[in-house]
Amino acid sequence: DDKLSRVRDAVGAHEGFPKPGIVFRDIFPVLRNPSVFNDLNDLIYEAAKAVPGVECIVGLDSRGFLFGPILALKLNVPFVPVRKKGKLPGAVERVSYTLEYGSDEFEVQKDSVSKGQKVLIIDDLLATGGTMKAACQLMEKLEADVVLCLVIIELTDLGGRKKLTAPFKTLLEYE
Ligand code: 5GP
Repeated sequence: DDKLSRVRDAVGAHEGFPKPGIVFRDIFPVLRNPSVFNDLNDLIYEAAKAVPGVECIVGLDSRGFLFGPILALKLNVPFVPVRKKGKLPGAVERVSYTLEYGSDEFEVQKDSVSKGQKVLIIDDLLATGGTMKAACQLMEKLEADVVLCLVIIELTDLGGRKKLTAPFKTLLEYE
C-alpha cells in the first residue's frame, strides 16, 4: 500500500530515547507533512470502517488525541478522551496500571460513554500493552463494548497484544 509505505518512511527512530537501549518511534514527523498526515488519517478511517457499528472513539492521553478526534468527525460519532489522573473535571471512573517503573492512573468522565456502547480505542503505539489494557479495563467499568483497539505502530517483540482481550489492529509493525 502506497499510503502505508509513505507513513512508514516518515516515522522517526531515536535510539537511546528516553533511556539507553530503547528505540523511540516518533510519529510527529508524519504530522509535519500534510499529505502524509492525510494518508495516515485515511488508513485509520479505513481500519475503523472495517468494524461495523462503531459508536464512539476513545483516544488515549496524549497522542491518541492527535488522531481520535479526526476519526470521530469522519464517522460522525463522539470523541472521548482518557486522561492521566487529575485532569478531568466531574465524576470520573479510574483505573491504576503498572508501568516499567512505578504505576499511573487513567481516568474517563463517567457520563462520557454509555452502557453497551460500541467503542473504538485509539493510540499512537502499542509497546508492552499496559496502557491499552488499562483503557480497556476503564471501558469495562463503564460497561462499554470495545470493538477495536487501534494503534498506528506495534512494537511486536514486546508481545503487548497478548495482554488484550478485545480485537486489536495495528497499521505498522516494528520489531
Ligand atoms: P505500553 O503501555 O504499551 O508499554 O506503552 C504505550 C504507551 O507509551 C503509548 O501511549 C505510547 O504513546 C507510549 N510509547 C511507548 N513507547 C513509545 C515509542 O517508542 N514511541 C511513541 N511515540 N510512544 C511510545
